[in-house]
Amino acid sequence: MIDGIYRLGFSPADIRYVVHTHGHCDHMGGSRSIRDLTQASFCIGADDVDVCEHRGELSEAELYGVEFTRHFTIDQALYDGDTVEVGNTQVSCVHTPGHTLGTMSYFFTINGEKGSYRVGMQGGPGVHTLVDEYLNGHDLPESLRDSYVTSIDRLRQEHVDIHLTGHAGQSSIFQPKESVDSGDPLAFIDPNRWPKYFDYLETGFHKKFPV
Ligand SMILES: [Zn+2]
Repeated sequence: MIDGIYRLGFSPADIRYVVHTHGHCDHMGGSRSIRDLTQASFCIGADDVDVCEHRGELSEAELYGVEFTRHFTIDQALYDGDTVEVGNTQVSCVHTPGHTLGTMSYFFTINGEKGSYRVGMQGGPGVHTLVDEYLNGHDLPESLRDSYVTSIDRLRQEHVDIHLTGHAGQSSIFQPKESVDSGDPLAFIDPNRWPKYFDYLETGFHKKFPV
């Protein structure tokens, strides 16, 4: 990631905010290292602050066969309806619990030469954290399963032109990438990808938890 920042012509010192989607170590696990390279403000949903600051046992590190001990301080706990302002871009924060208690989803608008486009990112798609064994073993409420469904229903209502995800493999993000590489710079602009993604999540949920 650091290499990628330099390749884009920036430096880690330019980063003003690190806005996490949720408190799992495959997303926020490197925060301490990033903090050492930047003056950035670290943000995460209020209900996932504990995981980052001192409850590493909830960070899913065991899934990757590691231990998460590099806790870090959150500068700004985010709540539903908050806005993070970066220059002239306003990032809207929506609390969408389910995958974790504090999962946040984000929306912002970019202004291109041919128009404005709304960008959306759902904070956490995985349903493996919603089985009884996982919830009970991690002191999490069984109501998170219902929250997951409520959250995806809520997000699906949003209009999104450009869909971003935390896990590239869980979306169709490689498809437009191929088109961009073949000369269509606007291939990521496709309002159909967002609702399709929620159909995919809904199907996955009902497969895992049949009625
Ligand atoms: Zn996760």
